[in-house]
Formats: sequence, C-alpha cells, structure tokens
Amino acid sequence: MNLPPESHAGASQDLFLTQGEERLEDVSRLRGMFPDLPVEALVKEDLLRLGISFSAEALKYCADFKRKSYFIFSFDMVPIDEMAQEENLSAPEEIQLNGGAWDLRRTTVSVRVNPYSPWRADMAGDQLTLSCGDQAISHIDLQPVPEYYLETLENGQPVHEVAPTIEWGYLVYLTVYRKCQYFGFKEECRFCDINENYRQQVKAGRPYRTVKPMDEVLEALSILDRVNSPSKAYTLTGGSVTRSLKGQGEAEFYANYARAIEEKFPGRWIPKAVTQALPEDEQQILKDAGIQIYHPNYEIWDEELFPILCPGKTAYVGRDEWHRRIIAATDIFGAENVIPNFVAGIEMSRPHGYTDPEQAVESTREGLQFFMSQGVCPRFTVWCPEPLSPLVVDRKNAGELQPPAPLEYHARLLVAWRDCHKEHGLPVPPGYGPPGAGNAIFSVSSFMDVIEVDENGN
Ligand code: SF4
Repeated sequence: MNLPPESHAGASQDLFLTQGEERLEDVSRLRGMFPDLPVEALVKEDLLRLGISFSAEALKYCADFKRKSYFIFSFDMVPIDEMAQEENLSAPEEIQLNGGAWDLRRTTVSVRVNPYSPWRADMAGDQLTLSCGDQAISHIDLQPVPEYYLETLENGQPVHEVAPTIEWGYLVYLTVYRKCQYFGFKEECRFCDINENYRQQVKAGRPYRTVKPMDEVLEALSILDRVNSPSKAYTLTGGSVTRSLKGQGEAEFYANYARAIEEKFPGRWIPKAVTQALPEDEQQILKDAGIQIYHPNYEIWDEELFPILCPGKTAYVGRDEWHRRIIAATDIFGAENVIPNFVAGIEMSRPHGYTDPEQAVESTREGLQFFMSQGVCPRFTVWCPEPLSPLVVDRKNAGELQPPAPLEYHARLLVAWRDCHKEHGLPVPPGYGPPGAGNAIFSVSSFMDVIEVDENGN
C-alpha cells in the first residue's frame, strides 16, 4: 500500500483495483472483529493513514470549495513537486462523507493527498463521490469557501493564510511560529516535516512567514469576528522554542498572542495552546494570558521508542519529566483541560517499531491508563508517513518503504481509547466540537467519532 511514485510509475489499473479490493477486505475483516466500532471510523482512519487520490474532474470541482491551507505540516503523502495534477492548489481542506452506497453517517476527514491511494474522489454525474478500487462508497460534501477566506488584510495578506480554519470551521488554527527549533535530523521528531514543509511551501510560492506578526493575527481575527465566523476555538501553535524567539522564551512568545487576543476579544473563542511540556511557572504564564486548554504533546508513550522518535524532546526535557509536567499541569489548567496529543501509528514505524498491531496498542494503552487514571485525556492524530520527514527520508535513502501502520492498529487503538475513556468516567474532551459518529468534526483522527452518544447527541 501507499506505493511510492517510483513503484507506481508503471502500475496498471489492475493494481489499483487489487489494492482497492484489499482495502475493502480489510475493512470488512475489522468490522467482523470489532462490530461495535462505527464503520465510518474505519473508513476515516484508512483515509487518514493512506491518503486520497483525485481524478482531474474531481479536482476541478473541488477548486471552487474551501481548499487545503497547509496550516502547519504537509499532511500529504507525496511532496508538492511530485503532484502531477498540482493537487496542493485545489485539494479541499476536509471532506465530509455522507450517504451513498454504504449509507455512511456524516464523517469529517482531513485531506491527505496521495495520488497512489485506492481511496479516490471522482465525479459521478454532478456528485463528488468516494470510491475504493471499483466500488462506490459514499457521497462527498465539501465546505463552501467561507466569507472571510475571500478577504485580505490591509497589507494584502489573505486572511486564510493568517487565520485558516479547520474542523469544518470550528477551529481557528494559528501557527504563529512556522518552524521548530528542534533542528535537523538529530533533534526533530522523526515523523515531523514542519521545517521541510516550510521550505517546500515557500518554494511553491505560498506566502509563509516564519513568525506571524501580531497585528496581522489580530486583524484577521477581527474579520472573522465581524462576519460572525462560526469558529468556536483557536489554537496557538508552532514549533518548539529551545533558545529564544523574538527575544522571548517559549511560554512568553505564545502567551503574548493569547494575551492580545483575549484583551481584544474576551471570551469570543476557547483559547488553546500547543507547546513543549513546560515547567510549572511557564505553564502559569500561559494560563494567566488566558489559555484554557493546554496541549503538551507527548507523541508516543513507549519508553524505548520515545528517545528514538523524539530525540529533541528527550534531550531538552526527557520522557519522565515530560510526563511529570503533564500531570503537574492539571493543578494549573484543571485535569480535563490538559489534552496531550500522540501520533497514532508511529509505534509501528520501521525499523525500530512494533510489527504486531496488538503489541503496539498494548504499549500505547499503558500510557492511556497512566494519564486517564489521573483525569488527563490524551487525544491523537493519525500518522501518515510524510515524504519529507526523517522517518521516510531515511528509508527512501536505504531503498525501502516506510508504510503507515496497518488499519488493524487503528481499529484496536480506537477500541482501547474508547474503553479507557469510559472506564475512567472522563468527560467529552472540551474544545473539539460535538462527539459521536455522524456528529464529530475533529478531522485528523476518529477519537471523537467513537464516543458513544444517544440519539440527541448527549
Ligand atoms: S516538537 Fe516535534 S512534532 Fe513539534 S514541531 Fe518540533 S519537531 Fe515537529
């Protein structure tokens, strides 16, 4: 699966159909293994781990809707210069699967471009449709271009470059620092392409700036506010600051934005921040600036794999201290507001990761138990091997593939996360919109889709 361009170059339509058949058999097998998992979640996870391909007609259709903003990482499975159809310019930010042959409930999925994926967006008459191999799966709905996406700042910057929204418009994604000071292959998290994606986007002509000017952020938010954007939360995010940035440490750098936003628009959005796991006095700076939800992402639980996959986090903070600071944050933000992310699937990355999905999830379950038993609810992003990340570049140089984790891993993880969340009686994580299959809008993993709700969504 996820064939790289060189092996796909001579690939036939037959191969595409065979891969589609394999995917559908796998989905069917996992439906049998986990009958209480929504099928929508299985399809969503497979789309996130393998990406989606577009026919030329589908891309043409998509270009009139809200497009991919490249809000932080590439989240694609080929680099821009290998996109023969220039998918980076027309692919939608997200798709919503709905109805169709499989009668799916509405399911919101982030788009990861992969021209070699058997999951394909194509036109059936005037309807955009998802198919797998030769089987039609569902209709695809797209988000219209929001009014504020058509506006520009006084200096000509498009609003969507400064303050794009994801999660179907729910979350304003403010990547105010577009690089990370964990620099080079010895420090960058090995699944991450933030620095390389910055370079490829600038080369492709996107007006990326390393640091988003404060006045532009405030001006863009004023426009969102004026047009009554339905957005409910914002995330302040970017790379880690290990030295200083604009003369400030990490907490102060991100806190400045929160302070200014909260002064100008008090209570308008739920304020969230992604940073390293900071010492308590620096966490307090964020809290005092107005941050409500804190994301000190631990990326992977496994004790042996953490230093291999997160060398920068290991060198600057260390695994045990990272975890200690996450728990310490519960006294500052309240346990339900401490929501660290992990990257689901990197436990199975080659060459050091697990080869058995059950064992990989057992390792991760240990971390879920550790945090959830103390009231902290981790959430996750599905790993797709980004071609410019060290994990993929290394394997490519060795002439080998870096495939994503198997769908079985993701199915087992969803069950583990759901059951652990239920076992500890935790609330629905705040700041992610509605839970439950058919309602969830969080688009980079299905953890919100598998929370069980009644017919009223409660
Ligand atoms: S901390 Fe790791 S995951 Fe986050 S931006 Fe830096 S390298 Fe990427």
